[in-house]
Amino acid sequence: MAKDYYNTLGVSKSASQDEIKAAFRKLAHQYHPDKPGGNAEKFKEINEAYQVVGDPAKRQKYDQFGSAAFDGSAGFGGAGGPFGAGGFDFSGFQGAGFEDLGDMFGEMFGFGGGRRGATRTPRGNDIQVDVDLTFRDAVFGASKEITLTKPTACERCGGVGAEPGTKMIECKDCKGAGVRVVQQRTILGTIQSRVACSTCAGEGESPSQACSTCRGAGLTKQKKTLCVNIPPGVENGNVLRVRAEGEGVKGGQPGDLFVRLHVADDKRFAREGDTIFSQAQIGFTQAALGATLSVETVDGPVELDIPPGTQSGTEFRLRAHGVVTRSGRGDHVVIVEVVTPKKLSKDQRRLLEELDLKE
Ligand code: ZN
Repeated sequence: MAKDYYNTLGVSKSASQDEIKAAFRKLAHQYHPDKPGGNAEKFKEINEAYQVVGDPAKRQKYDQFGSAAFDGSAGFGGAGGPFGAGGFDFSGFQGAGFEDLGDMFGEMFGFGGGRRGATRTPRGNDIQVDVDLTFRDAVFGASKEITLTKPTACERCGGVGAEPGTKMIECKDCKGAGVRVVQQRTILGTIQSRVACSTCAGEGESPSQACSTCRGAGLTKQKKTLCVNIPPGVENGNVLRVRAEGEGVKGGQPGDLFVRLHVADDKRFAREGDTIFSQAQIGFTQAALGATLSVETVDGPVELDIPPGTQSGTEFRLRAHGVVTRSGRGDHVVIVEVVTPKKLSKDQRRLLEELDLKE
């Protein structure tokens, strides 16, 4: 489903980054779920919009491809459209999401009160994997299976760590507070801070009997095979982000999976953005008289008519035989090279000499 992130933030498409940031801050204050009149759903939408258009690089991608390129919430097979499943973006590792937001809200709202006020919800580690693609995979998109063995929420206890059916009891170490006060000596003096209680992982309570499968950890190592849809048009070094497919963590959100793409070279083709280039060699008689060539493209051989009098280095454009894009296809450009023979037969030499006399 396409989303209008500008509309969500109440700014125009031509708004400056500063205007977008200001609009985001205002709305985030207004809808923050901890505030009176807050709205968690709306808050999430605002965040999602800002994650994209608040970042100049992602904003450019969004302007080009729309929100489908960033639809992280759906996981696999969710969003439709030519770009297939959701759950990816091109963000790379810097500035990607959660951590930034956490800091930002810490700064904006301070630590709220309450049991879990002192800490963020824990988040599992991200995982990075490398995936090899052929030149064609990158042009047309591909579906790749990735098998991961990672800490995942225990199936028996649902990640809670308690034996199903047992009661929760107040944590004896933090007396139900979920946090402990620690003192740290620094060059500025002693600083007191609150950290999540390690016994109950900040929950304030712990199960009276630990889960028999995970022994209370809430996690087990599980093997999982994912099918990752690589959208068409990706380039070497692009990183796709698959949300919540990283490592699990007790009482929190799983991290993300980052899929780094390695696109193999194809000696027949070069690529620049959506355009594919190749070279075709022709003899000087073909160049002089014109010819029909069979040119290799990613769609198979295509016929190309060369007009009489073609010069070496001339480019011919085969429309819509390039990289698959959101709006269709890029082009394939054939650069023709005229090869002058190094050796001539007697007859060839005679004919050329006659030709030379006539000119
Ligand atoms: Zn368990």
